[in-house]
Amino acid sequence: MSKNYDVIIIGSGSNGLAAAIHLQKQGLKTIIVEQSVIAGGATKTEEITLPGFKHDLGSAILPMAYASPFFRELPLEKHGLEWIFPKIPFAHPFEDGSAYACYKDLEKTAAQFNKDEKSYKKLLQPIVKNWSQLENSLLGPLKLPKHPLKLAQFGLKAFLPAKQLVNHYFKEEKTKILFYGAAAHATLPLNNLASGAFGLVLTSMAHNYGWPFPKGGAGNFITTLLSYYQSLGGELELSHNVKDLNELPKAKAYVFDITPKQLLRIKATNFPSLYKKRLENYKYGAGVFKIDWALSEPIPWRNKKCRQAGTVHLGFSQKEIESSEIAAHQNRDNTKPYVLVAQHSIFDTTRTPKDKHTAWAYCHVPNGNLTDHTEAIEAQIEKAAPGFKDCILSKSTMNTKALQQFNPNLIGGDINGGKQDITQLFTRPIASLSPYSTPNPKIFICSSSTPPGGGVHGMCGFHAAEAVLKSIFK
Ligand SMILES: Cc1cc2nc3c(=O)[nH]c(=O)nc-3n(C[C@H](O)[C@H](O)[C@H](O)COP(=O)(O)OP(=O)(O)OC[C@H]3O[C@@H](n4cnc5c(N)ncnc54)[C@H](O)[C@@H]3O)c2cc1C
Repeated sequence: MSKNYDVIIIGSGSNGLAAAIHLQKQGLKTIIVEQSVIAGGATKTEEITLPGFKHDLGSAILPMAYASPFFRELPLEKHGLEWIFPKIPFAHPFEDGSAYACYKDLEKTAAQFNKDEKSYKKLLQPIVKNWSQLENSLLGPLKLPKHPLKLAQFGLKAFLPAKQLVNHYFKEEKTKILFYGAAAHATLPLNNLASGAFGLVLTSMAHNYGWPFPKGGAGNFITTLLSYYQSLGGELELSHNVKDLNELPKAKAYVFDITPKQLLRIKATNFPSLYKKRLENYKYGAGVFKIDWALSEPIPWRNKKCRQAGTVHLGFSQKEIESSEIAAHQNRDNTKPYVLVAQHSIFDTTRTPKDKHTAWAYCHVPNGNLTDHTEAIEAQIEKAAPGFKDCILSKSTMNTKALQQFNPNLIGGDINGGKQDITQLFTRPIASLSPYSTPNPKIFICSSSTPPGGGVHGMCGFHAAEAVLKSIFK
């Protein structure tokens, strides 16, 4: 590491990289310092089961990266990025063997519903249509919107709990369940205020863009970001766990891609005690239990729609999904969890040896929970895909502790950098005019503990870099 950097970024997750790229593009000299031996944070692909089977250790399906106003402007295809679009963004199988699909085509999606065709269009069409005007307000900190009327129309729906939203708009339980599949990505009880927003945003992304993923593994998204960053002259130092600001060379700004609990442990930040107290009060959300499988064949879903979907959500009644998300927040284990499954190898043959397959899944569990949920997750899949267990060649599991060992930002297995409830959605880590700044004018936060929160979209990093530019390099 040389001595003359304008900005040092601590942590090489998608947000750290986004911040570094934005600053480097403005002509500043930057370096990323990363504690791990591999860059990427919770976006990494490795052969963790059998040789030749590539598994995404953390994030796997990246519609937010594809749709990100920051990432989509970068020339990542030139640096090797290839997107794969599953025929169906996501599907949800039901107990009777039927399934609903969320197709990219909104009309085709709505046409599946017996009683809810009109109300599905009424709910989603305005958001899908106005997405380009809404995205800047939804993917950043609270500020005066450019399109207040459209945002207000969205907000009236998005502010509601997912439970209230589906009960108001839909008559069929199956339509409600399909929407819950997307809404439950919030990792919140579905009767919580604003839990509906996640369903609206993720479903709108499916209709506007699809739910794509990078060819060869989510890790390739990081490889291409890094290649672009280095082509701009950006530097990376691996295997350096930053514990003290004084161990880093002098710079005009330090941007941390870490969560409040970790920031509090960094020495020499000189934060006043009131700010420290507020960071200490920051709330973490439920954790996850994660499984990767090497399979002899694709998951044998009973329903064809599930065989054509990149993502399959599981949960066999409205009540079952609601109870699952409540249990994860009430420190209870649950034998019938809501499960998210991703199946890349059906669409991406580079992931496995010939004719073999992978699958990736997780369920929400209480923060810090150490129970092995393998049986519960496999039982849910088996219900919609009898014979699934016979296809398993090998598997790798991570409970909340293993996840935090894999990446120290995953506090207690929380994959979103903190609870995404109404009190922390736009005002994370604390309510302030600039959530990316801290009382130390040289220290900034760019992780998913800042708005707009969890997901691989780089928008926390972009906004943090903007805060650095505005306050230091005006
Ligand atoms: C199992 C799982 C599944 C997920 N699925 C999806 C998905 O399908 N789609 C999606 O969009 N998102 C998904 N996510 C969420 C997504 O991965 C995160 O929101 C995203 O990685 C956040 O990026 P970040 O840059 O804020 O932090 P991170 O990716 O967590 O990166 C933080 C980096 O900081 C480094 N670091 C920490 N402390 C220090 C230190 N003291 N010194 C130096 N370096 C340090 C870490 O090693 C890490 O590299 C998933 C996450 C997990 C874990």
